[in-house]
Amino acid sequence: MKKSLKQLTRPNVWRLKPYSSARDEYKGVTASVFLDANENPYNAPFNRYPDPLQESVKAKLSRIKGVPADRIFLGNGSDEAIDLVFRAFCEPRVDNVVAIDPTYGMYQVCAEVNDVEYRKVLLDEHFQVTAERLLAATDAHTKAIFLCSPNNPTGNDLSRKEMERLLQEFDGLIVMDEAYNDFSEAPSFTQELERYPNIIVLQTFSKAWGCAAIRLGMAFASADIIAIFNKIKYPYNVNLLTQRQALEMLEEYDRIGQWIDTLKEERTRLLERFAQLPCTLRIFDTAANFFLARMTDAPRIYNYLVGEGIIVRNRHNVSLCANCLRVTIGTPDENRELLRALEAYKE
Ligand SMILES: *Cc1c(COP(=O)(O)O)cnc(C)c1O
Repeated sequence: MKKSLKQLTRPNVWRLKPYSSARDEYKGVTASVFLDANENPYNAPFNRYPDPLQESVKAKLSRIKGVPADRIFLGNGSDEAIDLVFRAFCEPRVDNVVAIDPTYGMYQVCAEVNDVEYRKVLLDEHFQVTAERLLAATDAHTKAIFLCSPNNPTGNDLSRKEMERLLQEFDGLIVMDEAYNDFSEAPSFTQELERYPNIIVLQTFSKAWGCAAIRLGMAFASADIIAIFNKIKYPYNVNLLTQRQALEMLEEYDRIGQWIDTLKEERTRLLERFAQLPCTLRIFDTAANFFLARMTDAPRIYNYLVGEGIIVRNRHNVSLCANCLRVTIGTPDENRELLRALEAYKE
């Protein structure tokens, strides 16, 4: 038996009557004199508050993603949506969430900020997890399970079969972080919102879309879940400059596909040569725009590369990642420089 959305939502949030801004109260298009929001009438267009629900961005995104606009939330990075999951559904010191380990660090940070217990379930040696092991970590107070596929920092897709089993069997919410889905051959769960009313799919403009600086994240879920996010978010959480840039990117959607193709080709080339380096012990399978590699001595190689002006991510202290570096796929020139430096590295 699934829990209802009311059972999953914090009672104070369920009862909340949201702040109603001037932009919420008048939504018509015929007016030409706006004296309702105490804005300065000069300095257009920056003098006006932006659209609180980013309707033009959502209309374009809806066509590209094949998801109705009322099932899309936009926030200040996916990080905002991650934080909203805790604020909307998890009662501090009462509820808990379950997540795979290792994974993206923000889930745990947001859990701790919100004083919500964070339960980790270790992946196996193939960086996979079973529905059974995740469910075993849950109890009556588990509101959400966090999954990330392709996973960060490991780079692999999680098993579709296990994720679907979880979606069917878990009585709470499943947060499916698809920040790297554009680089993977695995289909997105954005096409499964009808089938799974308990899923929240996260995507971002920060990776394949090349827009980390504008801070724009997407959450796709049932219209009821999206309505709860909209109720508790900051009224103007996505600023005008970000909305404009997003519209521009959505116009040139083709370019993003070209970047993805280029990065996937470059990934194949870089992996082949990286595997042959004397200091590489193993490269793990990746479906993302980065890869995880086990090295002879990751902390030492990391420091050596810093000295060469090349920064990768040292994951030596992360669960299951001893002596591992996480390397992002760069331009052909950047990747060549990395290989040149590592070929010259002396153990
Ligand atoms: C980079 C990344 C994000 C993106 O976060 P933003 O706040 O949208 O920049 C989300 N999830 C994972 C797993 C990531 O690696």
